[in-house]
Amino acid sequence: MARDENDDILPDHDAAKEFYAKYEPKEVLGRGVSSTVRRCIEKETGREYAAKIIDLSSEDNNTESIRESTLSEVHILRMVAGHPHIIELHDVFESHTFIFLVFELCRNGELFDYLTNVVTLSEKKTRYIMKQIFDALQYVHSENVVHRDLKPENILLDDNLNVKLTDFGFAKILKPGDKLFEVCGTPGYLAPELLKAAMYEDAYGYDQAVDLWACGVIMYTLLVGCPPFWNRKQMIMLRNIMEGKYSFDSPEWDCITEAPKDLIRKLLVVEPSKRLTVDEAVNHEFFHAVHCGVKQFDARKCFRMAIMCVRCVVRIQRLKNTPETLSVSNAGMDPYRMKAFRKVIDNCAFRVYGHWVKKGDCQNRAALFENVPKTELKSLYISNLNRL
Ligand code: ADP
Ligand code: MG
Repeated sequence: MARDENDDILPDHDAAKEFYAKYEPKEVLGRGVSSTVRRCIEKETGREYAAKIIDLSSEDNNTESIRESTLSEVHILRMVAGHPHIIELHDVFESHTFIFLVFELCRNGELFDYLTNVVTLSEKKTRYIMKQIFDALQYVHSENVVHRDLKPENILLDDNLNVKLTDFGFAKILKPGDKLFEVCGTPGYLAPELLKAAMYEDAYGYDQAVDLWACGVIMYTLLVGCPPFWNRKQMIMLRNIMEGKYSFDSPEWDCITEAPKDLIRKLLVVEPSKRLTVDEAVNHEFFHAVHCGVKQFDARKCFRMAIMCVRCVVRIQRLKNTPETLSVSNAGMDPYRMKAFRKVIDNCAFRVYGHWVKKGDCQNRAALFENVPKTELKSLYISNLNRL
């Protein structure tokens, strides 16, 4: 970390200079409220990283709170470092006007963009992604940290579609039994107890359980492509969250098995003490190997397969009638090999020499098209040569 012995903040240009001396910034990968994330290359090694550049140069009062939350983010990132599904912080540079956080690069971007591309994920893929999220969260909670901003935008994917949990900007250290009251996060993913903490004076507060609620929202969204409590009017959405009002009624849910529905039901529980803990979630039957082998009849999938089979058979049948492709070079070198040309040439030749052939004499007709020397003529020619 770019700090001197007395832990004083370095002059602005020094931190920026140090960063630019070591890294070459490239294109923008993403933007947050007060940060820009760019791909960058470490000059010495040629390795690629993602640099989160936090701008503290504006004059408003907000900058101090941004600095504080960024330093807290760095502290927590170091507490939860070393897990395969948590983003690795590689380097930090800090000054009065900028903070540079250098992370490992996740080339496949956000789970959000992946979901936008594919619309929905199969149960198998959802299981693969959710298992990694829960594994990361188990580690985060075991370190007495609550993330508070779990959503597909803050779940990154590396080259092999492995999950990397990121953005610990709202994360907080929270000892067992302690409660938080502050409202933060993203509306669609907020847990009911967190909303209540904002609304009622005598609210009980909230803890790590809010992350499990967000996991329920994420899992629901991955499976059917739309979030469970969404409503055009935000007030109605927040009321739906407080009442835990969601359903598995849409037709997409018809082809989804019971196990993922059961897990979602046990995560989207309004009363936090009755909600699954992260340890219980990783052990849910949805993640059991035995369950992976059990397949339910999926009418839509079967229909799609049947259509594909019919199309395949039709194509194979048509194959024998499909004319072979005719390359210009082949046609130039050996036109007689091509069926279409052969017909044209034969017809022309027959028009010229046809009168030689007696009607119904197949032998003579065949001889007309013979293009190798006749053996008796060949031997006659050789004997004539010998005589000379
Ligand atoms: P903020 O706290 O401002 O939301 P994030 O840490 O979430 O900042 O980063 C903002 C966006 O930048 C992410 O949603 C993502 O698109 C992109 N991003 C962040 N870190 C990386 C990374 N390591 N690799 C690739 N893209 C990243
Ligand atoms: Mg973010």
